[in-house]
Amino acid sequence: MNEQLIDNLVDQVVAKINEERGFLVEASGRHVHLSQEHIDALFGKGYQLTIDKYLSQPGQYAAKERVTILGPKGALHNVVILGPARSASQVEISATDALPLGVKAPVRESGDIEGTPGIVLMNGSKTVTLEKGLIVAKRHVHVSAADAIKMNVAQGDIVKVRINSEQRSLIFDDVVIRVSDKFVTAMHIDYDEANACSFKKGTRGYIVK
Ligand SMILES: [Zn+2]
Repeated sequence: MNEQLIDNLVDQVVAKINEERGFLVEASGRHVHLSQEHIDALFGKGYQLTIDKYLSQPGQYAAKERVTILGPKGALHNVVILGPARSASQVEISATDALPLGVKAPVRESGDIEGTPGIVLMNGSKTVTLEKGLIVAKRHVHVSAADAIKMNVAQGDIVKVRINSEQRSLIFDDVVIRVSDKFVTAMHIDYDEANACSFKKGTRGYIVK
């Protein structure tokens, strides 16, 4: 075999391996993370959230409790709280959700909330005014430490991810890689992004170079 042929074969094998290395994509609806201080304010001192179901990331769960997000123009009711409690409260909505609320929410990585707008949370007659923490979550891939080596990616990398679907395949750019040995590898997009690519359960993403 000549060199050219071998190179082509190697390229094909690498492409095939990359294809198999795709990862599960999950669509996150609007949700709230609360500090214990804000759980106390909304549900009572020392209140513990009730686990409804566990999420793909170890230890993370959707709680049974719900809150209302109140903006200057309108409200979003029945918004799920994700546990466990965090050091700082954070509200994650889609850009579409921001319209009825009457607020502008910046695209930020989770936890990066300095300088973001505040919002009001309500549970019945109890309210909490967050000084900051309203964001549209930047799309990201949680990558386990072991998979990061296989996928040749590192914490903080910005990659492109291809989504194949009927009628609406697309490539997302500006996807953040987040690596931790506490993660299970999965991509998180919001509902605006999910609708844009005809997401359905089982949709997989593939890093493209
Ligand atoms: Zn995530």
